[in-house]
This record gives sequence, structure tokens and C-alpha cells, in this order.
Amino acid sequence: MDTSKPLKENDYISSTRAYKNLMKLKDLAPQLFSEANKKDFMKIAPFDLIKSLHTKNGRERTLAHPELSFLMRKFPLLNESKPNFDNLFNGTFYIVQMNCTISYENNALLWVSEFAINNILNYTHLAIQPISLLAGQYGKNKVAVHPTVLNFELTLPNRYFETNDVHQWCNEIAFQYHLDASTSCPIFIIPYGIWNIDQPLIPGGGYHGSNNGMPFIVANVTDEIYPDFTVQDPEKRFSDTVSHEIAETIVDPMASWDHPEVCDACSRNNCNNGYHLYFDDNLQYIDTLPWRGLSGDIPFQYKFSIAAVCKPEFSHLLHPGEGCLPPGDISELACKYKFPDQRQIHWPNYFPQHGTNPETF
Ligand SMILES: [Zn+2]
Repeated sequence: MDTSKPLKENDYISSTRAYKNLMKLKDLAPQLFSEANKKDFMKIAPFDLIKSLHTKNGRERTLAHPELSFLMRKFPLLNESKPNFDNLFNGTFYIVQMNCTISYENNALLWVSEFAINNILNYTHLAIQPISLLAGQYGKNKVAVHPTVLNFELTLPNRYFETNDVHQWCNEIAFQYHLDASTSCPIFIIPYGIWNIDQPLIPGGGYHGSNNGMPFIVANVTDEIYPDFTVQDPEKRFSDTVSHEIAETIVDPMASWDHPEVCDACSRNNCNNGYHLYFDDNLQYIDTLPWRGLSGDIPFQYKFSIAAVCKPEFSHLLHPGEGCLPPGDISELACKYKFPDQRQIHWPNYFPQHGTNPETF
């Protein structure tokens, strides 16, 4: 895969899983990330391989790469782990407006417009409550969205950045705005035309991670010239990714290697189904519908939508390779369900069968 270009919509991938594998690789083989290897890193460890290292197949493929073959013994398989959901996120999400100066392009400026960023902020204010309730199926959480956008000035040599840079942004924004690491989560809204080189994202895609105990979200926005870049976001240019990553961050704030991505099984970009919950002007739940394509009609008026969260009772079935559910009607059961009423939510210990035989699907 050419990692210098953005992915196309049909490159199904869990970017957060790829991020987690990259971080695990860093722990196990820090020598691969030395200055000397930096230039050739993508040749030594191609992204296509990194994103599947947690699977049996991916681990076996390391044998063809001399510098990576030791991972065959060392890299753990995802289905050998048992996540716990004791520590969900309790804190505040911050929408970050990035003003990027590209120094090798005569200091060209790239940013997301006020109109678009304000709509993202307004959307997130509405969406946070139902997202918190959906994530609440996995455990107790208390979350909020900061009322204003944080401005963040950034100078890049060119239009590319690396995961390491994002970690540095977390340090800088925490310092600049006096953010407490464990209770703050910046959402970096990446302007169109800038690419995460070691974490290729589809337009509008994103991932979540953590740095020094601070969760963070990276969200690419698609071209914002469209007049429908609104809270309703009918073509889901940002709302799908923002709600998806917020839900996954609430359940897994430290992006722990052994945690599943709780939205992937119900997502268009990850598992090709794309369930969304729709809400009216009064924040009342209307219905959950699978993705109907860009021109697909939604048969009712709605104010906004959020990405579905896989029901915990089904998440032990998630395929360890893709985070998808086995084929059949299970997606409908796992992703389209009665919206949880907070008063009815209990927090039992899920994952009773996790790790038994998920590779048989
Ligand atoms: Zn995800």
C-alpha cells in the first residue's frame, strides 16, 4: 500500500487497531524506530502488515521480513487477552481547531473554517449525551464537551505528520491550556489535505490513542466546501468519525492494546454495514438505520445522528482480525437495539467467553 496517499473509501480498516499495533511494536522493538531506521521504516514494517500484526495471519507474515521475524514468537495475539472495563473515561472532550502553516509551501495556511469547526462543536455538544449512554452499556462514565474550541498553531514542513507528532501535540496542548491529562481528551480536527503518514486514514476517518495518560482523537474532515457541513451532516463528513471515536475513547480511554473497538462492528468503514442512531430536535431517539449510501433517503426528519456501539453481549464475538461480527443477522442484533435508558442500565462483567475460540468464525 502506498502510505503517502490518502486511502479510498473502500479500504476497510480499523485505524485505531493499526495505531495500537504500532504502539505495541514500539514497545517490543524500539530499535526499529531509531533515527537510522526512520527513513526506511515503512519498508521494514509496511503499514499493511502493521495493521494485521494482532492476527495469526499477520504474525505469520512477519517471517518474510528479516527485521520482524522475531515477532512471530513475541507479538501477542488479540484473542489471548482479556480486557476489563473498569476504567472508562470520566472527563472533558475538547474540539481543537488546528491552524497549520506548511513551511515548504511558502508558509501556506491550512485550517478548518469557523463555520465547519463551529458545526462540529455544536454537533458534539448534542451528541455527547447519547454517546455517553451507549458507552454506558460497558461501564459508568461521565463526560462533557468543553464549550469553546481550542486553537492550536502548528508548523509542518510539508503536508504529512506522524503518530509521534500527535503525541507531541498532546503534550503541547496540555501545557498551553493547562489540561489535566487523565480527564481531558483533545479531538484534533485535521484540515483536509494533511495526511498522517504512518496511519493512513480514509477521508473523514479517524482513530483514538493516548499519550502520557491523556486520551486523544484524530479526526480527518472531508472537503468542507459542501454546504451540508452542518450539525445534521447527512453525508456524514465528520459526524460518523467524531461520534465513533468519542464512544470508543469513553470505553477505552488509554487505547489499551487488548481492548476491542466497540464501534467497528457496526461501522461502514470497518465492517461495511454502518449503523447510525438518529435523534430529533428534542434529543429524543428516533431509530437506528444501516448506511443507505450517500443518496439514501432517511424516512423521517432528524437533527443529528451518531455511530452505533456494538452491544456488549455480542462484543466477545468480534472477529479478532477485523473487529467485525460473523456474517448473518448478528449485526442487526448487535448494532440495532432499543436505545438504552440510563435508569435501566446495569454494569455486569461482560466478556464471559472472551478468548475461547474467536478464530473459528
Ligand atoms: Zn473504531
